[in-house]
Amino acid sequence: MFALRIDPAAPLVIVDVDEVLAQFVRGFERFVVAQGYEMRLERFALFQNIYRAGETAPLDTGTARRLFDAFFQLDPHDIDVAPGAREALEGLARGATIVILTNAPAGSRPARARWLIQNGLPYTLVVGSGPKGPAVAALAARTRGPAAFVDDLLPNLDSAAAAAPAVARFQMVADERLRSLAPAAPDRHRRIDDWPTLAAAIAQALRL
Ligand SMILES: [Mg+2]
Repeated sequence: MFALRIDPAAPLVIVDVDEVLAQFVRGFERFVVAQGYEMRLERFALFQNIYRAGETAPLDTGTARRLFDAFFQLDPHDIDVAPGAREALEGLARGATIVILTNAPAGSRPARARWLIQNGLPYTLVVGSGPKGPAVAALAARTRGPAAFVDDLLPNLDSAAAAAPAVARFQMVADERLRSLAPAAPDRHRRIDDWPTLAAAIAQALRL
């Protein structure tokens, strides 16, 4: 288990990386284009948007998965910070503990940790796998304060709703091109796609 620095009395913000703090798809797109492929953002399903140049059917999942794993082996990760994310977390960190909860391929943790530090996001990092609800519940149980969770993917938000219903949930999609493709469920999870507005809503939910 990781040595988690969570103030047992403070509010807690649990935040995803890819498409929340990081413009993952833009970075991955640069990578696949450099390998001679094309990214056509037509679906909110990463591996179904990568094509060999000129072809009409997307890459098979095995090839797409190998590109994904190779991208995550780059060190540092060639990914830009989402606009406003650094400033938003700086503000929230004055009154809350920040924990970064990411599902990244095995072995990519050191590069991911370096990327966070190099980009002004020096917060506790937890690397997990699978639906995030159990991890959100375990983290939230470490404080008596209120907690919030931010992710781009509905399955993770639904998982958190089931495992930790008291944790405030927010959906954020950092890439403007993906926003209209990303399924939302605003009756279950608030959807806010820009960081200044999202930070204010989190602060309000946590009574900061
Ligand atoms: Mg994500």
